[in-house]
Amino acid sequence: MNYPEKLLDTPVEFLRGVGPVKAELLRKELDICTFGDLLLHFPYRYLDSNHLNRICDLRPDQEWVQLRGVIARIREEGHNFKKRLTAVLYDQTGQVELIWFQGGAYVRKHLQEGATYSIFGKISYFNGQPNMAHPEIELFQAGQPLPALQPVYSTTEKLRAKGLSNRTFAHLQHALWERLQPKDIGEFLPGNILTEYRLMPRFQSLRQIHFPESEQHRDAALFRLKWEEFFLLHLRMGRLKIRNHQQAGFTFENVGDHFNHFFTRHLPFELTRAQKRVIREIRQDTRSGHQMNRLLQGDVGSGKTIVALMALLLAAGNGFQGVLMAPTEILARQHYEDICGLLKKMDVDVRLLTGSVKGKERRETLTALAEGNCSIIVGTHALVEKKVVFRNLGLAIIDEQHRFGVVQRARLWEKNRLPPHILVMTATPIPRTLAMTIYGDLDVSVIDELPPGRKPIQTIHRTEAYRAQVMQFIRKEIHEGRQIYVVYPLIDESEKMDYESLMAGIEQLKAWFPEPDYRVAMVHGKQNPEERQRNMERFVNGYANILVATTVIEVGVNVPNASVMIIESAERFGLSQLHQLRGRVGRGSEKSYCILLTGGHISNESRQRMDIMVRSQDGFVIASEDLKMRGPGDIYGTRQSGALPLKLGDIIQDTTILENARLAAQSLLDSDPELKHPQNQHLKSWLQNSAQGKEKRAWSTIS
Ligand code: ADP
Ligand code: MG
Repeated sequence: MNYPEKLLDTPVEFLRGVGPVKAELLRKELDICTFGDLLLHFPYRYLDSNHLNRICDLRPDQEWVQLRGVIARIREEGHNFKKRLTAVLYDQTGQVELIWFQGGAYVRKHLQEGATYSIFGKISYFNGQPNMAHPEIELFQAGQPLPALQPVYSTTEKLRAKGLSNRTFAHLQHALWERLQPKDIGEFLPGNILTEYRLMPRFQSLRQIHFPESEQHRDAALFRLKWEEFFLLHLRMGRLKIRNHQQAGFTFENVGDHFNHFFTRHLPFELTRAQKRVIREIRQDTRSGHQMNRLLQGDVGSGKTIVALMALLLAAGNGFQGVLMAPTEILARQHYEDICGLLKKMDVDVRLLTGSVKGKERRETLTALAEGNCSIIVGTHALVEKKVVFRNLGLAIIDEQHRFGVVQRARLWEKNRLPPHILVMTATPIPRTLAMTIYGDLDVSVIDELPPGRKPIQTIHRTEAYRAQVMQFIRKEIHEGRQIYVVYPLIDESEKMDYESLMAGIEQLKAWFPEPDYRVAMVHGKQNPEERQRNMERFVNGYANILVATTVIEVGVNVPNASVMIIESAERFGLSQLHQLRGRVGRGSEKSYCILLTGGHISNESRQRMDIMVRSQDGFVIASEDLKMRGPGDIYGTRQSGALPLKLGDIIQDTTILENARLAAQSLLDSDPELKHPQNQHLKSWLQNSAQGKEKRAWSTIS
């Protein structure tokens, strides 16, 4: 076999019509270095000459339209910064004005009056007349047989300025395809899979996606290419999972005294069925002799901490050390205090290690860890620093995984001769099938049940005009002994504007709630950890009535007496974030409220988001709405961008293809987990090569 495919590794510079200057631009702008990269620069749309709109049929509610007509009256209007180019497009039924606010000079040079053009763009209306700004425009050559579907390629301003327009890309693809033979584009999917799932072969698919014979061909090509992406993704994840399952791990032989004592004497409440089930799953994993790699999903407030603690006791009872790692100092401290509280009648050495644990205390902790006197250590990423040495780390629990990179996870493992068992906990619930994709290499446990007796949190959306009423309401709650969170959006803590509005907000709040009758504490990212901690404590111990915070409190803090959560500029938060924030209240026995404050004029989308929050309290419902509205990228952060190499496939929209490919990958791995069968050899080497990035790297090794 000869992967990667040789011709496709040719530097793009050597393609007819490219040359060194354009090659450099292609590399810089679109990361296109080789023939192969160009091949994978797919059209994002097709011009469909069977679906032309007539100008007389245009309607204000239509957005994107495709027209064909003659260009006339090309004019440059205005001067200096207001300069623009206009032209009129006629067809047999009417006329549309075309406008270019930028780049007019370039367009002017190429536009011919009296010639026929195909144009595509967004229609808008001015004084009842249709016009189109910055249309895509292309000369129509009569007599030349036009394919039904013409590919449209994305390009950039810089490329266009150097003559690399959408059209040029089509020419480059032609030049490329003149040289491509079926042998250059190897098929790596086994024949039986192509047949069983009715997939178009790879060569044809790539040909059809660039130059479709028909809509059906294009769709079949797209199906195959998306399917292939999902299939490879699931194969990779599946193989990782198989490897994980084979990885030797520490065996926790017994349940152990710690676990038993705690369970029978000190557990403050009855565990939910879901909690018990997850603990059983962890017990099975850790006694199997293989390493555990498990994701624990559970909505906010579902009680993940106690599960974590019991897993840590399991490790301790078997003579192993365990860590619980949290993303922030505040959260680590809170976990530490909760755990100390729960274990106060037991003889287990629990310690804290964060950036602000210093001096003698730090030295002692490090020694205790190295000598094995400390069984449970809670902390932040300070725990993965080189200086931290464990005697026998058996279990690592990582809370709120989406804040931690995979790299940090790997660094924890390096500290041992055997990797510790890993439990990742997240409060961002995602639908099951998606979890199987995104976390396909991990085993997944779900806590799908809240502890009994939770009162629903009443969620209310109020505009700025009702601020005074909201303040009155807060006052009433404070007089009844409750505490209040007020959260400000600080998307980027370094942003001056946000910071100033936070300060202004606090001043306003202090005016409503003056000392000494009221006490306001505040935490934000500009404070140093000690200051933040002091303020946090004032709220946790009940001294402060109000905690003003930026999203630092988003994950994890637990103050059962807090009954109201006010979210300022709520429209600036994503749905899942709002849900996390809201989860900070409703933890005590009192009725709780979440008030979403927004301006009076917010976008439809924002309004929809507020409505969902008011309507639903189910994290799964909210997460899937969030996915629909924002796409997955924002939510899964690091995991998503690194681990999901999808060019065409969309894990939300293409769920049918995804599921089909996932099952195919699963059944292949069931029958041939090591990919040893002769018919799977192409696939195996493709997986190996593409994993090493050879597809992309060939050019850079030459230059
Ligand atoms: P999260 O899953 O968001 O981390 P926590 O572990 O902080 O949730 O638990 C939220 C609250 O619920 C805590 O106050 C905890 O003591 C309480 N809790 C957890 N499990 C139970 C249970 N089975 N019965 C009653 N209360 C519980
Ligand atoms: Mg938690």
